[in-house]
Amino acid sequence: MTDALPWVHDKTMGAVLLRTAETWPDRDALVFPALGVRWSWSELNARAGRMAAAWIALGIEPGEHVGIWSMNVPEWVVTQFAAARAAAVLVNINPAYRLHELEEALRLADVSTLIVGSPFKNSDFVGMAQSLCPEAASAGGLDWTSARFPKLRRLIALGARPTPGWSTWSDLENGPQATAAELAARLASIRAEDVFNIQFTSGTTGRPKGAMLTHRNILMNSYYVGERLRYSEADRVCVPVPFYHCFGCVLGTAVCTVWGSAMVVPAPAFEPGATLRAIRDERCTSIYGVPTMFVAQLEHPDFAARELQSLRTGIMAGAPCPLPLMEKVTTVMGAREICIGYGQTEASPIITFTAVDDSIESRVGTVGKPLPGIEVKLVDPATGADSPPGVPGELCARGHDVMAGYYNDPAATARAIDADGWLHTGDLAKLRDDGNYRIVGRSKEMIIRGGENIYPAEVEEFLITVPNVSEAAVAGLPDRKYGEVVAAWIVPSPGATLTEHDVRRYCQGRISHFKIPEILRIVPHLPRTVTGKVQKYQLRDQAVRDLDLEDESATPTA
Ligand code: AMP
Repeated sequence: MTDALPWVHDKTMGAVLLRTAETWPDRDALVFPALGVRWSWSELNARAGRMAAAWIALGIEPGEHVGIWSMNVPEWVVTQFAAARAAAVLVNINPAYRLHELEEALRLADVSTLIVGSPFKNSDFVGMAQSLCPEAASAGGLDWTSARFPKLRRLIALGARPTPGWSTWSDLENGPQATAAELAARLASIRAEDVFNIQFTSGTTGRPKGAMLTHRNILMNSYYVGERLRYSEADRVCVPVPFYHCFGCVLGTAVCTVWGSAMVVPAPAFEPGATLRAIRDERCTSIYGVPTMFVAQLEHPDFAARELQSLRTGIMAGAPCPLPLMEKVTTVMGAREICIGYGQTEASPIITFTAVDDSIESRVGTVGKPLPGIEVKLVDPATGADSPPGVPGELCARGHDVMAGYYNDPAATARAIDADGWLHTGDLAKLRDDGNYRIVGRSKEMIIRGGENIYPAEVEEFLITVPNVSEAAVAGLPDRKYGEVVAAWIVPSPGATLTEHDVRRYCQGRISHFKIPEILRIVPHLPRTVTGKVQKYQLRDQAVRDLDLEDESATPTA
């Protein structure tokens, strides 16, 4: 770590791609083994430049919002860097969104141009976009306006043209292009502090909000994450995580572009078998995922047959990693230098990161130390006062990672970022004596049972040590006597039988009585989001209904 600012601090995404393409023109940039796509840095850069020139010729102005609604495909990455070259703002739209959510996203982010993916499994993206924008479906040409979305001007299909109201990706590749001078002028007009990307926050709770990230936010995060992982142009990073999320488009594509490492993308959506094949065939040195993705690979029937010795490092993030899983990932899978990242979309996304040579205990028990240039403090979520040493508090971060704000939502921005520039994450953490942070829950999830503060993560960590327990989720349920009580949903280990009584008996005397779940459910699996987070509000709402409890808090929003 040095005090000098890294070279990316005053650069933009487009300029960094140009530099990488000049430095390593012939090295692999983007590999989709299943599609037979293998582009060098000079090819990726040329494709992004051509697409940006086509967008400018189409009339896309600087600062316009270009959305992409697609699975992981090569065009996603071209779109990301075309936006960077054309001075447009990229809007990531989750491919799991359905009509209502797409409508909300297009409106919230004022999308003017929407790039729409080809069908995938039961997702007909083009059909859904047509039904929201019937004007494009019935128009005889490209000149239409949408009553529902006054800002929307253009629909671009990655596949075939559905109606004359649409452009296609291939039209743009083969159609009119702005001149090289116009393209260069666009790039020169962008500043590092300009907003480059709008990413919707995970939406597991509350309404989605569009976090605005600048070139500097993303590039500084990318530089320091790559530095912690000791990346170089020799690394080959397996990216099975979605591009629409910061895990894919910052820790994946942006980090690789800063460091010249190759990105290897196994499939349009996570598939454990394809991921294992990609690691083996492409000799990947690094692997990304949320904990459940690693479990799926380790449990895959092909696992033992695969050769994974090329693996050195990787990132596990998004949710806490249990010790037995970390042990398997570092030994059986061989990713001995895998790191844990903690952060959130609003922090571009990484706040703290472990080091490649941290002990396994540190990599499981903690989320590491802040990246250089990021300050972290813990505060009492109720009063905002600094937490005394050893006491958990809401983790707040300040520095180059903090987003520019939520798009068009100054009130939500002011709730998230205080007047002194601190981002309030809503996560509860503890600082250990060794300087590493430990996440102990969400501030809104903290259970207060008759005045005792209980951190769900602490109870969950204990519950997975109970024999025959594979996973556990803990949340508070309303209670007349205590205000709230502890409820737990427990998934047994494969093939094991487990009763509520077994679990309670094991807990007796091993954890404080008030932490022993009053309400216990044995369930076959936990509901999760695509990025691996347990949807506790679903479990909680269901239990409130089943048990006919009086719920004053309803579904939490934040
Ligand atoms: P997102 O904005 O979708 O990236 O979600 C961010 C949230 O995921 C954070 O506010 C945390 O609650 C959770 N999270 C991210 N990384 C970790 C981690 N390493 N350990 C525990 N929780 C995490």
